[in-house]
Amino acid sequence: MNYQIDKIREDFPILGRTVYGKPLVYLDNGATTQKPRCVVDAMTEEYYNVNANVHRGVHFLSQRATDLHEQSRETVRKFINAHSTNEIVFTRGTTESINLVATCFGDGCMDEGDEVIVSEMEHHSNIVSWQLVAQRKGIKLRVIPINDEGKLCLEEYEKLFNEHTKIVSVTQVSNVLGTVNPVKEVVRIAHKHNVPVLVDGAQSTPHFAVDVQDIDCDFFAFSGHKIYGPTGIGVLYGKEKWLDRIPPYMGGGEMIKNVSFEKTTFNELPFKFEAGTPDYIATTGLAKALDYVSKLGMDNILAHEQELTRYAIEQMNQIEGMKIFGPSASERDAVISFQVGDIHHLDLGTLLDRLGIAIRTGHHCAEPLMHRLGIQGTARASFGLYNTKEEIDILVTGIERIKKMF
Ligand code: PMP
Repeated sequence: MNYQIDKIREDFPILGRTVYGKPLVYLDNGATTQKPRCVVDAMTEEYYNVNANVHRGVHFLSQRATDLHEQSRETVRKFINAHSTNEIVFTRGTTESINLVATCFGDGCMDEGDEVIVSEMEHHSNIVSWQLVAQRKGIKLRVIPINDEGKLCLEEYEKLFNEHTKIVSVTQVSNVLGTVNPVKEVVRIAHKHNVPVLVDGAQSTPHFAVDVQDIDCDFFAFSGHKIYGPTGIGVLYGKEKWLDRIPPYMGGGEMIKNVSFEKTTFNELPFKFEAGTPDYIATTGLAKALDYVSKLGMDNILAHEQELTRYAIEQMNQIEGMKIFGPSASERDAVISFQVGDIHHLDLGTLLDRLGIAIRTGHHCAEPLMHRLGIQGTARASFGLYNTKEEIDILVTGIERIKKMF
């Protein structure tokens, strides 16, 4: 495999910095990833040389900015293998994409007493957005339980369907357990009951190739900043038949065809869901990031990160008192939530930080999962395409050092 990690790391200027005099070891990629120079450069270049509002202008710069923006949509389409760019809606991120579906699908396709199926391992964004619809419209949340290994109980899932089930909304990868859910099977079962599925791809898209037509999901959400792109930009993929059927999310410019005080008609897809000036600089950055990972090869990234995860679990398990949550190394993604003896996760995170090691601590926006696991929180190391085994060694040595202090 031609995966030149030293060269790859040079693309990310921040990885060369120190923290408290120690080289930065950045293991918080599940929260956000660092940006390669090409992403920042492309955005700067557009601000300096192209900047103009998109879609509405007849002048040179506006047309150039529109071209870049729409080319970015095509890059996204290709990246997730959507059928058409009409199915690619730009949002602010996974959270907004899920809220869009919950709100618009809730308004357009659900009535009091109807049900949405989510899972016990969801991020708050895929729970609370549905709870808001529940409060407004009297719909109910049904929950797919997980087993002790941290995997979805598919038999229980199938039992949740009834005539009130209107949509299923599940994550492809757990941001806590690393579990890679069998979303294709989740979709197959839902479609047997004529129920559409939203897949949360926040933690999958940065780590392995996603093909929305192969999964056959009806909606798919992901965030730019977790896949080496800029903050504030994300994607909602939706099959045209559903995007046509559900009402718009926000009203304003761009999303209309004609407006009068008596009657307004809406723009065609995907613009019906894109009210206001889009973040056309960020879409350029996102497209650059997708080009960057595509050039490295998603399969190469996956192989590199799987090797790191396997190595990390092996090394971390040598530490006395180490408890790692989630399935075995071969069945999980590049995220490891753990506890060490009775050291509080916050102490662990704070002391590792002093060694230059950035990890995340807490409930990871998954409080219901924490309740299921019977814990308050964990420490979490999550890997990206630029991490190395040496960094894992530094983490393990750091944890050993902290353990001796307690
Ligand atoms: N879903 C999952 C599984 C996540 O890990 C996250 C981010 N931690 C989100 C949704 C929300 O993503 P964002 O904050 O980028 O909207």
